[in-house]
Amino acid sequence: MLKVDITVVGSLNMDIVAVVDHVPQAGETVKTPHAHLYTGGKGANQAIAAARHGARVRMVGAVGADAFATTLRAVLQSSGGDVSGLVEKRGPSGMALITVESDGQNRIVVCEGANRMLTPRDVERACSASPWPPGSALVVQNEIPMETVRHALDVAHRRGWRVIWNVAPVVPVEAGLLGEGDVIVVNESEASELVGMDVADIETGRMACERLLKLGPGMAIVTLGAAGSIAVSSAWGIMSTPAYQVVPVDTTAAGDTFLGVFAADWDGVTSPERSLQIASAAAAVCVTRQGAQDSIPTREDVISFLK
Ligand code: ATP
Repeated sequence: MLKVDITVVGSLNMDIVAVVDHVPQAGETVKTPHAHLYTGGKGANQAIAAARHGARVRMVGAVGADAFATTLRAVLQSSGGDVSGLVEKRGPSGMALITVESDGQNRIVVCEGANRMLTPRDVERACSASPWPPGSALVVQNEIPMETVRHALDVAHRRGWRVIWNVAPVVPVEAGLLGEGDVIVVNESEASELVGMDVADIETGRMACERLLKLGPGMAIVTLGAAGSIAVSSAWGIMSTPAYQVVPVDTTAAGDTFLGVFAADWDGVTSPERSLQIASAAAAVCVTRQGAQDSIPTREDVISFLK
């Protein structure tokens, strides 16, 4: 078991996927024999990735008063996550309604459900019951209300927890807020949106990281799919991590696996370089497997991949 203790404050979703020949027009009904239910949500994915990597993980989030909530809790628990920070809200759990057409085209409706009801008070309560000491990590994303994200940052500072903030999706925030994250993690399109330049490779990723560092965080990481990732830190300088060469099957949850494993592997004190490589290996294993949370590897999977 690694020594890193992590609190993840974020979303849990049930993805309802229908594979169809064509999407219905207004008033039309289409049938399909191909439907799947997948558990997801950036928060839950990252919590599962960190827990499967051996960190002690507490998830703080909201589920609805429905059967999906039972499944969302169960998957987290079976991965070793602590679900005592989950609160139940009236109404449905978060859901994503996804149609996939025969040409691979996706259409997604996100029903935020309970995720949009996670309040600063819920976070305060769940975190004040937390035994995690100063130096632990808080992982947060933007799929919950911004006032709750802000409160999570505030709790982390009060408790002396390091903040790893996945600024996704990108939403407008007040100047200076990004400086509240010790580490900012974004993919290339989020980086482009945040810094207002085209980010498409390691060089433009480095430039984006440098611009992000000027906003106040200690480290910025931009992930670039099969091109790997680039990190720039005020303490450790520039760290470029190539992606491992694999045959991709399904890249869903690659970014969440990268982030969750990085958070679980890095102690916040020593150089993050090796943890970035481990995160990259875990994400490479993830892309060789079909599915979302099903494809997130365990620590043992990553060790055997690296042998
Ligand atoms: P997603 O939304 O699919 O979860 P993302 O856009 O947040 O992903 P990416 O930048 O696509 O994140 O991927 C994160 C990391 O996963 C990359 O930095 C890389 O290490 C690894 N990765 C992604 N795609 C591949 C690939 N085809 N081959 C090897 N590694 C990959």
